[in-house]
Amino acid sequence: MQNEFNDNVRVQDDLYNYVNGKWISKAKIPSDQSSTGGFIDLRNNVEKIMLKDLKKFIKKPSKDELLNRAVMLFNKILDENDRIKGKDYLIKKANYLDNINSASDFSQATFYLYNNNYPLPFNMGVSEDMGDATKFSLCLMGPSTILPDTTMYNSPNAKALLEVYKNMVLTILNKLEIADGEDLVNKTLAFDKLISKIVKSSEEWADYIKCYNPYPLDKVCELVDFDFKSLLISRYGIAPKNIIIYDPKFLDNYKSLMNNNYNLYKAWAKVKLILGNVGYLSEEYRNLAGTFNRTINGTKKMVSLDKYAYRLINNYYDEVLGVYYGKKYFGEEAKADVINIVKNLIISYKELLHKNNWLSKETIEKACLKLDKMEIKIGYPDKINDRYYALVFSENKSLVEIINDLDKILNEYSDNRLYNNVDRTIWVMSGNTVNACYNPSFNDITFPAAILQAPFYSKEQSIEANYGGIGCVIGHEISHAFDNNGAQMDELGNIKNWWTDEDYKNFQTKTNLMIEQFDGLELEGAKVNGKLSVSENIADNGGVTSSIISLKRVKSDCNFKPFFLNYAKIWCTKARPEYTKLLLTIDVHGPAYYRANMQVRNFSEFYQAFDIKESDTMYLAPEKRLIIW
Ligand SMILES: [Zn+2]
Repeated sequence: MQNEFNDNVRVQDDLYNYVNGKWISKAKIPSDQSSTGGFIDLRNNVEKIMLKDLKKFIKKPSKDELLNRAVMLFNKILDENDRIKGKDYLIKKANYLDNINSASDFSQATFYLYNNNYPLPFNMGVSEDMGDATKFSLCLMGPSTILPDTTMYNSPNAKALLEVYKNMVLTILNKLEIADGEDLVNKTLAFDKLISKIVKSSEEWADYIKCYNPYPLDKVCELVDFDFKSLLISRYGIAPKNIIIYDPKFLDNYKSLMNNNYNLYKAWAKVKLILGNVGYLSEEYRNLAGTFNRTINGTKKMVSLDKYAYRLINNYYDEVLGVYYGKKYFGEEAKADVINIVKNLIISYKELLHKNNWLSKETIEKACLKLDKMEIKIGYPDKINDRYYALVFSENKSLVEIINDLDKILNEYSDNRLYNNVDRTIWVMSGNTVNACYNPSFNDITFPAAILQAPFYSKEQSIEANYGGIGCVIGHEISHAFDNNGAQMDELGNIKNWWTDEDYKNFQTKTNLMIEQFDGLELEGAKVNGKLSVSENIADNGGVTSSIISLKRVKSDCNFKPFFLNYAKIWCTKARPEYTKLLLTIDVHGPAYYRANMQVRNFSEFYQAFDIKESDTMYLAPEKRLIIW
């Protein structure tokens, strides 16, 4: 990326722009992207490599049967003349909804609708039980809204955005020659408005412990207006005794949402179904169906057909592609090196806990147990999960039918797990993903092969730079085990209070200080939401803390300049203003600028490395600095 630092700013006044400013001033955001830099550039590179290989496999098939299936789907998406053949199928599928006029119609049709992936006035699925992570449970929540967050309905531009949505839908319905377009879209917006008043905002979703509300089945049945029990028996054989309700407010209001509103529901479901599928019919339809999202995130044009095809096959064959990528482009030597860094970070975390001055011995021991039990997943899995073998489709069908078939297989696979034990060997992120994660239900951390490259990690860069990059990212993921959500789950991934009352109170005080530190920071005329981003800010804070002491241990004469310079570099991003504002509303991650510039001010090593004085902009009074772990 950038070769030189920005001489127009002093590092002591703005670390982020000192490191990234020069690059940012020259960088152009490609018209099909909402941002560029850092993570996104790496993603583009992985995509480029994979596209080249996939195109090669079209001409000369691989020996890997699963990979060939992914290539077959890739090729099918590229064939535009073939895609339009699915038009009749989609219209027929949508028209089925015309039969739903009442709660009793809906009761009779629910199983069919659910089984065939129609939009329902609720979302339901099987997921790990947060109270007992060895088993699965059935979860229920409200549908998503048209605007990406409920708070956006009160914003000054809500009306204009919904107008863009309306025009987009009208154009598509007209082109498909579906009658009563105006009426359908007005009803869709009316139903969406009702939904927006009873579902959670992004800030509420960020507190995921509050999603765990087990309700007895009978109670759920009382709160809905259709035969829920029969739906469950048809689908699962036996209806589960308890359902986990993610948003109780939605369920409490379910009956009033549906009361005399089936005419609104069926219009909404029809429009949602068409919008979700019409892009499979042709590039023209894909372009039209992307209008609303492009307006929201500021992107100028849709991604090219081959990139779209790659991203779509990743929805189904991600692990197949990830294992291929990992085996070919990620070496065993790098894997061993990164495992050492992870182990070092875990040792550091224990050291931090033992030196901690605000926790009791009892809580420290429990926290260390959580670290001992943490599973590490690096690169890509040894074995591809069974579900990928089930993803078989008929090449003779149109793309829209194939996608619907594949979705059906995936949903059935997911639902069939309800009465099985949880398989903890599965990976939640594939090897070709430029990201990393902590899974609270498994108490495991995953670092896919694709993120293990520069600037995050490279054998060519200094050990300090690696600890400022991948070291902080690894520390970040480990810290999620002890963020405001993770702290409420035990070493097995169950919601359980393992704290003494006083320790937990101290932790909450520190959590509130972290909320205060970020809340209201300004960017592009909008403000950071401290509550929405608190879990990620705690994780960043713990990530930098643990990476600093790890580096000190592996290199006693280390230099913190390259550490912090690379830490700022990994966050290098240039985003469209619309996108920045959108993320500030819906993303649990704070903006890159503050993840670098606000976070580093908490660390004395940063002040020493760059000789930061009270008169410098990056200076934060010692009493305001915050280190949680
Ligand atoms: Zn995170």
